Amino acid sequence: MSMLVLGLEGTAHTFGVGIVDDKGNVLANARDMYKPTAGGIHPTEAGKHHSDVAENVLQRALDDAKIDWNNIDFIAFSAGPGLAPCLRATLEFAQELAKKHDKSLLPVNHCVAHVEIGRQFTGATDPIVLYVSGGNTQVIGYAAGKYRVFGETLDIAIGNAIDTFIREAGGGFPGGPIMEKLAADARAKKGENAYIELPYVVKGMDLSFSGIVTAALQRLKTSSLEDVCFSFQETCYAMLVEVTERALAHTGKNECLLTGGVAASKRLQEMLRMMCEERGARFFVCPSEFAGDCGANIAWAGLVAAKSGQKLLEPSEADFNSRWRTDEVEVTWLK
Ligand code: AMP
Ligand code: MG
Repeated sequence: MSMLVLGLEGTAHTFGVGIVDDKGNVLANARDMYKPTAGGIHPTEAGKHHSDVAENVLQRALDDAKIDWNNIDFIAFSAGPGLAPCLRATLEFAQELAKKHDKSLLPVNHCVAHVEIGRQFTGATDPIVLYVSGGNTQVIGYAAGKYRVFGETLDIAIGNAIDTFIREAGGGFPGGPIMEKLAADARAKKGENAYIELPYVVKGMDLSFSGIVTAALQRLKTSSLEDVCFSFQETCYAMLVEVTERALAHTGKNECLLTGGVAASKRLQEMLRMMCEERGARFFVCPSEFAGDCGANIAWAGLVAAKSGQKLLEPSEADFNSRWRTDEVEVTWLK
């Protein structure tokens, strides 16, 4: 008997509904993204956005998959980590659906879901994962029953750092593609001479980006935005590559998987690919439709967990945890 799982994503800006089967087919992956009118993401507004769009996104997913509720085995939902108002809106929607359609719930860790969908769609089996997004920056690898976090940001995520810098410099949102274009222009004009020194902040296996944002904004008084974008990327991506390489060296793993919204960066891909080639490791990039936040990730991770025997919950038993850490999850499906 094949299994069908409906997954709800709602940890930050994106509300998504995905439907997957146990062959790894994605039948639907509908989403709607909250875009702040001014400034950064406002948690309460984002949560309200999710509640407002939930029914519509759900209907699109059911239409795309051409199925009805009878076919769905259970509902997986993103239970953390993330912004509390977003997680609450998602939980409440999950509970409402579960009661209405008599389904059980399975809480899924958002970061683990990124790792699982990446493994599924790249063929990586036991990678060191660099997960880089608007809200998260982690270097993750499997060891002794858990996905261990070998390194992570001590303050803001790399995507948030890029978005903040571009916004304060007067650019639009999201900042990543804008920065990438400007940095490429600087490189085309000046090559490596476009580089302006910025703080390089790696502490042990951890990273820090907030000081770099401040320093980069100061550099704008004396240097062009293009040159600062180029330098920002070179500095931050070198930091990420350094920590990822050290995780590969420590664990002896020979696969590297890049995922999260920042995985779209051609320059970050290039730098990681070079590092992997030098070490004889295989390099994988999660396909873009699953690299960002989406319901399919949550549905797939929920399906894998349930197949390995993880317990489904009654709607009233389910909860969220905005600080749920990657390494708190029992990875019962890898043994
Ligand atoms: P996520 O939180 O996973 O949805 O990813 C969103 C983040 O990815 C935002 O911070 C974007 O600025 C960032 N992003 C998207 N495209 C690029 C790119 N080409 N280079 C760097 N960052 C990017
Ligand atoms: Mg994410």
